[in-house]
Amino acid sequence: MNKPYRDLNSYFRERFGHRVHKLTVDAGMTCPNRDGTLSTKGCVYCNAAGSGTGANSRGISIREQLENSKIPVARRFKARKFIAYFQSYTNTYAPVSKLASLYDEALSVRDVIGLSIGTRPDCVSDDILDLLARYARHHLVWVEYGLQSACNSTLQKINRGHDVTCFTDALTRTRQRGLPVCAHVILGLPGEGRKEMLQTARFLADLSIDGVKLHLLYVIKGTSLAKRYHEGDFQCLDQSEYAELVCDFIERLPPETVIQRVTGDPHPSELVAPNWALRKQETLELIQTIFQKRGSFQGLHYRPQG
Ligand code: SF4
Repeated sequence: MNKPYRDLNSYFRERFGHRVHKLTVDAGMTCPNRDGTLSTKGCVYCNAAGSGTGANSRGISIREQLENSKIPVARRFKARKFIAYFQSYTNTYAPVSKLASLYDEALSVRDVIGLSIGTRPDCVSDDILDLLARYARHHLVWVEYGLQSACNSTLQKINRGHDVTCFTDALTRTRQRGLPVCAHVILGLPGEGRKEMLQTARFLADLSIDGVKLHLLYVIKGTSLAKRYHEGDFQCLDQSEYAELVCDFIERLPPETVIQRVTGDPHPSELVAPNWALRKQETLELIQTIFQKRGSFQGLHYRPQG
């Protein structure tokens, strides 16, 4: 299916000429917004698992995690090469030597050709970025920063523990080393309407961001957001509202930005609301239909600065 936006598969095909797939790795990290360095509460939507698969706590090494997921993914998606995606918690929150051994282990797995490192913008020292830049001499290396919103008041409300300037500083230092950056954004955050969400789109467009991941704010068990939801203090977006916002957002991004995700993937046993978040394919089709109905595409409302 041809997408009206530059998705990750298209990017990989342009770059490598064949299918490449990201494989999720749980490296058993933690996060300064959980371990008491910044806070013990975490972001309002995050539970103690920090989006982890739990593989590390079950004693499964990075090598085993990658080997175990390679075969079914290769069969299902006909992928020939893989990117190790360090997803759970904050994957630069450790001494450089420890990080180097984790990343080395991932890159030693056959057919793993790169790294994608999910982290917080306040957890990247220059030494860590230098380390990543060294891997980038021979591998594809992306850095994925949780921004979530370009509104400081929202970041405070969701207890992110960093502000927007922290993100732009990390972005600048990462790009100085030639590393592409993917920004994670959540649509439907408390206190945000269409105006605030599209401000985030324009903010990222003005930075000519390399990649974006769009997530729906869903409520999972064991979070402070779940408590607010049960108290009637927070409502989720409905499916059509979300799909319209995704299209609005992508229309405002530069055509070159790689749209790495357009919705999230909650674990069914953890999800509190909205139920439609489990129907990912339906959401993807709805987004496609809206683009078609509008006759629009990525970049339609992008206005380069200057
Ligand atoms: S930064 Fe990530 S792991 Fe840490 S509390 Fe927030 S969502 Fe959870």
